[in-house]
Amino acid sequence: MVIIGSGPAGYTAAIYAARANLKPVLFSGLQPGGQLTITTDVENYPGFPKGVLGPELMELFRAQAERFGTIIIDGIVTKVDLSKRPFHIWGEGKEVLSETVIIATGASAKWLDIPSEKQLSGHGVSACATCDGFFFRGKEVGVVGGGDTAMEEASFLSKMASKVTVIHRRDKLRASAVMQQRAQANPKIGWALNQEVDEVLGDEKSGVRGVRTKDTLTGETRELPMGGLFIAIGHEPNTQLFKGQLDMDAVGYIKVVPGTSRTSVPGVFASGDAADPTYRQAVTAAGTGCIAAMDAERFISSGGAH
Ligand code: NAP
Repeated sequence: MVIIGSGPAGYTAAIYAARANLKPVLFSGLQPGGQLTITTDVENYPGFPKGVLGPELMELFRAQAERFGTIIIDGIVTKVDLSKRPFHIWGEGKEVLSETVIIATGASAKWLDIPSEKQLSGHGVSACATCDGFFFRGKEVGVVGGGDTAMEEASFLSKMASKVTVIHRRDKLRASAVMQQRAQANPKIGWALNQEVDEVLGDEKSGVRGVRTKDTLTGETRELPMGGLFIAIGHEPNTQLFKGQLDMDAVGYIKVVPGTSRTSVPGVFASGDAADPTYRQAVTAAGTGCIAAMDAERFISSGGAH
């Protein structure tokens, strides 16, 4: 078995597979530990009543996967051939043949790609309100984006922040009508339309103190004071590697048979954010990693029935 990816889904799949004696080989990918390694405190992962640091949590996942004999290759997979079994996986100068593949390559939040955003990431700039919203209780925050994710993040944040300003580059929202209406009816949500973020103001020590926006029609700049900024301009599943080999939706999320991890190719299973446009939580990723390992184990023990 080859597992591609080392977030909660990949490591959980490895723990289950290794304990089932499947001797998994796990490629850890570009960012070992996945998205949690770029957050700070994780307070919603069950079992840690006092919270845990994201990187520390992923070290624990890794140690548990290694304890049962997972072979971890710290590197990226550059090519796969899923057209016949055994499947061929190339990466880090190796070619690995496997009867089953578990995909756990995750997704990446899209960022604005401006230097101040990078500098203040984890210091008031976040791409996940569910993860970090709690730290902004009673503060003013901004949400960048005009799609459903931005509306959802703004509504969620309005329950704890004193005010939420949605910053969107056009005057029309992309979000579905129902999500727009809900956000527009919320008295705690304000709007900065036709604005793009030019710079996030603040420093690593004291965090975000505001943003400088630029009017997309007039070019005029202004400063909006706020204590945090949430980037909600979409996610991209990391599934380029499998394009043309597995069924995916229009965005690139891998399609699985509902309630399972089975993809369009027998013997290939998908878990975590690479197959989940909806929930995207560490605990749901871990859950589907477990499902993938159990599906793969049953696939092998039944002699390849999908
Ligand atoms: P999205 O629909 O692609 O919207 C992204 C938003 O970010 C757009 O408003 C876009 O502006 C803006 N944007 C993109 N790049 C930007 C940049 N570089 N600078 C500034 N703004 C930028 O993404 P999404 O909101 O994550 O939704 C993705 C999919 O998931 C959608 O199909 C959505 O319906 C679905 N979803 C559903 C729910 C729900 O039903 N509960 C919740 C979340 C997501 P423009 O509009 O100008 O392009």
